Amino acid sequence: MIKKRILITGGAGFIGFHLQNELAKTVAVTSMDLLDPTNEFVVLRSRILGTVQSGDIRKPFLLGDQRFNVLIHLAALTGISPSALNPQAYLDVNVNGTFNMLEEARKNNIKYIIYASSSSVYTPSEGPVAETSCTNHPLSFYGTTKKMAELIVENYCRQHGMIAIGLRFFTVYGSWTRPDMAAFKFLHAIQKETDVTIYNPHELKRDFTHVSDIVAGISRLISILPEFEPGTHEVFNIGFGQPLFVKDFAEALAVKMGKKLKLKEGIIPVNEVISTHADTNKLFQYTGYKPSVSVQQGIEELVDWYKQYIK
Ligand code: NAD
Repeated sequence: MIKKRILITGGAGFIGFHLQNELAKTVAVTSMDLLDPTNEFVVLRSRILGTVQSGDIRKPFLLGDQRFNVLIHLAALTGISPSALNPQAYLDVNVNGTFNMLEEARKNNIKYIIYASSSSVYTPSEGPVAETSCTNHPLSFYGTTKKMAELIVENYCRQHGMIAIGLRFFTVYGSWTRPDMAAFKFLHAIQKETDVTIYNPHELKRDFTHVSDIVAGISRLISILPEFEPGTHEVFNIGFGQPLFVKDFAEALAVKMGKKLKLKEGIIPVNEVISTHADTNKLFQYTGYKPSVSVQQGIEELVDWYKQYIK
């Protein structure tokens, strides 16, 4: 059993916040984040955690005399539409930033890397996607940068003997969600009793995955790291495995809020997929874990938090 010293990048982000809270119960965790003072949620989350260091993955930085053996690289620019408007920024953070972190890992002998990829790498498909499904045609520039990062990690593992696990997350939701994500926007509109715009509502489906399932999946993967041979790079879907109509998700939020959903139909942008659906078998085969938080349970946790937050 290795004694783990973990560094998380993007530690004040939505997933990083929950992951750090959980891991810090049992292992030594250090986290860093850009800590942009204009990003209210990042500021609030880092204040709660109290220990997030400031750092920019776009700039190679020395880890100093801090020593880690596991890097969990979550820092990224997220969001589909903004990636089309500012692709250079996505290249700088998601591709060059990942490259910088790999270089830091190589120079500092960090043996294990777990990094965030995305379901956005997949070529749109009707059925569930497995890790072997086609990723040659991501629809969005965001998905493209995530695929580029996967390829760079693949090369670093082969060339430098690192062990890496890529995490293809599917629509994560839960308390402290990002304010730009649908779940938060829907809650805000429902609370204010204004329109909730949903693209192609009779077709649009997402494989909503509660953040506690994401954290549990990552924790299981951390525990099996020593089983992998040097040079291994494996990617895993972490998704609930049951796509839901986005309008039904919004309706369930409204019910839990005790309000009425005012649905407005929108038209899906060209870079958004109509449906996502994770095949979760690989994660189960390797770790014995399957995401298990039902949408009802997940929405309860999210709405309880939201009610506290708006107070
Ligand atoms: P998030 O935006 O809440 O977290 C990302 C964090 O990275 C933020 O705190 C941000 O401040 C930080 N960051 C951005 N640029 C940085 C830089 N230059 N240097 C250091 N830190 C920087 O996003 P999230 O939802 O927590 O996602 C975490 C990871 O999971 C991301 O890599 C994202 O692409 C991936 N992902 C998330 C989802 C989802 O549904 N939330 C789905 C698929 C993939």
